[in-house]
Amino acid sequence: MPTRWSARMNGTLDTIDNHHISINAIKVVNRLTEHGYQAYVVGGCVRDLLLGKTPKDFDVATDAHPEEVRDLFRNSRIIGKRFRIVHVRFGREIVEVTTFRAPHDDQYDENHSDSGRTLVDNVFGNFEEDVFRRDFTMNAVYHQPETGEIIDLANGVDDIRQRIIRPIGDAEDRFREDPVRMLRAIRFQAKLDFSIEPHTEKTIRSLGYLIQVIPPARLFEEMLKLFMSGYGSAAFSALLEHEIFGWLFPDANRSMKDYPAQGLITAALDSTDRRIAEGKPVTPAFVFAALLWYPFVEERDRLQNEENMTQVQASQEAANNVLAKQQLFTSIPRRFTGPLRDIWFLQFRLPMRFGQKPDILLEHKRFRAAYDFLILRETAGEELEQLGEWWTEYQEASAERRNEMKQSSGPKRRKRRNRKRRPRTETGDQASWQST
Ligand code: ATP
Ligand code: MG
Repeated sequence: MPTRWSARMNGTLDTIDNHHISINAIKVVNRLTEHGYQAYVVGGCVRDLLLGKTPKDFDVATDAHPEEVRDLFRNSRIIGKRFRIVHVRFGREIVEVTTFRAPHDDQYDENHSDSGRTLVDNVFGNFEEDVFRRDFTMNAVYHQPETGEIIDLANGVDDIRQRIIRPIGDAEDRFREDPVRMLRAIRFQAKLDFSIEPHTEKTIRSLGYLIQVIPPARLFEEMLKLFMSGYGSAAFSALLEHEIFGWLFPDANRSMKDYPAQGLITAALDSTDRRIAEGKPVTPAFVFAALLWYPFVEERDRLQNEENMTQVQASQEAANNVLAKQQLFTSIPRRFTGPLRDIWFLQFRLPMRFGQKPDILLEHKRFRAAYDFLILRETAGEELEQLGEWWTEYQEASAERRNEMKQSSGPKRRKRRNRKRRPRTETGDQASWQST
């Protein structure tokens, strides 16, 4: 049943305190209503406000068309090709203004398909249509800051109160229309600690294969939201729980049988979550390095054993193969594959601790990431003869102690020297390490 009521009438959960709404979002809504348009804050921000959380950004929905919105705000521009939305900028904050839209259009995807996804061109809609084109009931609550009015035609407030993720309309239809909604459901489960409504959960399990039709570039964006937003570890477990992970990272999924991949990925995401909580920088290169490490190890071993490649050749080739294959599922932009390879190849240089090597390595711009990665491999259960501990101490040690430490990795050094040398490259290749 359609529900309209005053925000202040219905207990804590239904109360929205305007102090928690960005002053800029309020300005946008007010300017639009002063000019005779309808305008509301809507979506994730209202959901977060009702949960007592501070929203990270604000979306405004209006019946004004994009050009009309742009004409009202000097600091605004229209973005997007197929569906145009307006970004109104206030310093570093952007308020996103979207014109009411009819259901069955797909704001992101330019590609056509025959699996039931929406192909219709974008058309503007009225208020009610805008409600029902949204993904989940909890994301379809509208709020007018000036009047305090909350409009909840999809019964979202109830679902927020009960912490339930429920599609608007038929789950199967909505996921076929846009399979990314399955990833969004899983992301909201992880982010908000909500549960997915049981029938919807079953539907996700049976339609998981539709993930394959999503363009890799859009999937990469979703991976960033899942893994790089501070709740990556929970998102990874949720992807496993709903049997979706394998549609995104088939090789990584398979590697969990024979290698401690689940432990490594979890450790990498835990560390990313911690760093985000502490305000430290994070990079997808590190997370993708962990996701694909054991497929890389496996492929490298195969190339060495079956194709008789040297370690160096096999490493380079394995990195190429594994990354090329993953790009069929989620793209990985070039700016991340370079650092990712560095993290991998440095793993083979970390065991070499004689002469100038450790000091040269310390200067490498990716040393810290490679060292962190080494520690994670040990956490995951790789037996590396306390290599991580050695490096932990070495970084802090005095010059004198460093010399001693290099000496004490001496016996290995003599043994290595007596062996016939393999050709070396800048990435090094002499690591002795085990995968489990
Ligand atoms: P977050 O807190 O992560 O930003 P959000 O719900 O605000 O979550 P956005 O991606 O910012 O998510 O989208 C804003 C709103 O647009 C959503 O709340 C939802 O109403 C609608 N929306 C976004 N993506 C889709 C989609 N794929 N299908 C239908 N509606 C969508
Ligand atoms: Mg949002």
